[in-house]
Amino acid sequence: CGIIGILGSHEVSPQLVDALRRLEYRGYDSAGVATVDASGRLDRRRAVGKLVNLSDRLVHDPLPGHAGIGHTRWATHGAATEVNAHPHQSGPVAVVHNGIIENFRELRAGLADLGIQPESQTDTETVALWCAHHLGRGLTPLEAARATLAQLHGAFALAFLFQGEGDLLIAARRGSPLAIGHGTGEMYLGSDAVALAPFTDRITYLEDGDHAVLTRAGMQVWDAQGQQTLRPIARIDVGA
Ligand code: GLU
Repeated sequence: CGIIGILGSHEVSPQLVDALRRLEYRGYDSAGVATVDASGRLDRRRAVGKLVNLSDRLVHDPLPGHAGIGHTRWATHGAATEVNAHPHQSGPVAVVHNGIIENFRELRAGLADLGIQPESQTDTETVALWCAHHLGRGLTPLEAARATLAQLHGAFALAFLFQGEGDLLIAARRGSPLAIGHGTGEMYLGSDAVALAPFTDRITYLEDGDHAVLTRAGMQVWDAQGQQTLRPIARIDVGA
């Protein structure tokens, strides 16, 4: 339901939770965050219910790192449980997702043929599992994300975070909105620019079918045809 991503210069978990709080008005049943820490380790924390449950969890079991993604979930596939909460992680990749992957049954069948079993009931986990599979056959994060995106049908916004890649976020939108925020040596993404207001007022709205690579140095975008393209940065005032 709500997506946030940050390549920052401080501990990012509290910033992720703050940003998710700005998306609470959309409603949600569970929430979670994933980060890459200074050693490159990818890890996550999730909790059912209100964001305070997630922030309490983070107090007792902190999640260090300056790069991360977060999500508030409005369940469409699978009950509101911790196992079904995002981020979904498979080995070296974590994914947050808004919307629906229409062909998740076929994607699951393909994974079963490879001997890969999901642990959740969600459509989203198939994205993480396929991306990890592509990484496992030697593709780079960008290649693996692209190979995965090419398999997906439906309307969605997605953000990918990778183990060992503390300066990389990959974002994609098809049908669901996604905004990129430009900071100073920091980059952000969010399903709603409102979530980014505390960080920056310099926003790029991705077009339908776009995917983007974010590093702290900036952003590269490719359109639905796979052509690299430029998207404007606008100054927007959504009220910090
Ligand atoms: N379809 C996904 C799920 O059920 C994403 C739902 C959402 O947009 O929050 O987990």
